[in-house]
Amino acid sequence: MKKIFKNKNITEYAVIPFDEALVINPRLLPEEKINSIVVFLVPYKSTNIPKDNYGISAYARVKDYHGYMKMLFAELVPELSEKFGVNFYGFADHSPVNEKLCAAYGGLGVIGKNSLLINEKYGSFVFIGVFLSPLKTENKAKEIISCINCGKCAEHCPGKAITTNGITAEKCLSGLSQKKRLTEEEQQIVTYAGLCWGCDICQNVCPMNEKALFSPIDYFTDTYLDNVSTELIESMDDEEYSKYAFSWRKKEVILRNMHSADLKNKK
Ligand code: SF4
Ligand code: SF4
Repeated sequence: MKKIFKNKNITEYAVIPFDEALVINPRLLPEEKINSIVVFLVPYKSTNIPKDNYGISAYARVKDYHGYMKMLFAELVPELSEKFGVNFYGFADHSPVNEKLCAAYGGLGVIGKNSLLINEKYGSFVFIGVFLSPLKTENKAKEIISCINCGKCAEHCPGKAITTNGITAEKCLSGLSQKKRLTEEEQQIVTYAGLCWGCDICQNVCPMNEKALFSPIDYFTDTYLDNVSTELIESMDDEEYSKYAFSWRKKEVILRNMHSADLKNKK
């Protein structure tokens, strides 16, 4: 298995017993009996540094990871099935199990106060995927470990969404920046926080991310948009636009925030 993942530049993976996983969407479970979960991390941090001043989250500057996972599953599902003689079912994001908890149970990282999984090698700049399979495992789930609880993410969070009890999703401005319609007050909050799409503040201030390594995966490093402009977004045809995470909303949403940021910068 190590070799199969290594060929794809994936080094962070673990096998956990299915019984330990938190099933969140049973309708997606395969019909046959599942015994184990292979959980893996896909790092996306790029060496590129934005030349523009728009607050666009790093995950949205690279091509959408769902496209990468689709390609990966198309190659690895048959390869793993052939190697182990059982079916493998790949999921990412739209998944029957809580992927973040699976990764933590597999010892792939600690859970930060900002609610993110923080991996020792790649920090929290990772996407998570899982394979479910009938393959039996003797592995036991590891204890879930919390971050060092330094409080920096809570201190810098513009939405005051992070408390000692964890994160209040409704207060997180990342979601607000992606809302279809904003009230005037909400737009002011998003613009004041310097956000055009998503928010990386709690990741960027986290000391456990300081030494996070860059991704070795071309799909992410080669597609980084380092100089975003309203003209660039406007000029993207539907196919190109659909390759980025911000395409789950029409162009109007990211452009609205970018125009608002331009106005603020002119003042
Ligand atoms: S993403 Fe931004 S707004 Fe959301 S919790 Fe983190 S720092 Fe706060
Ligand atoms: S900034 Fe500190 S408290 Fe927040 S996730 Fe990182 S280590 Fe934990």
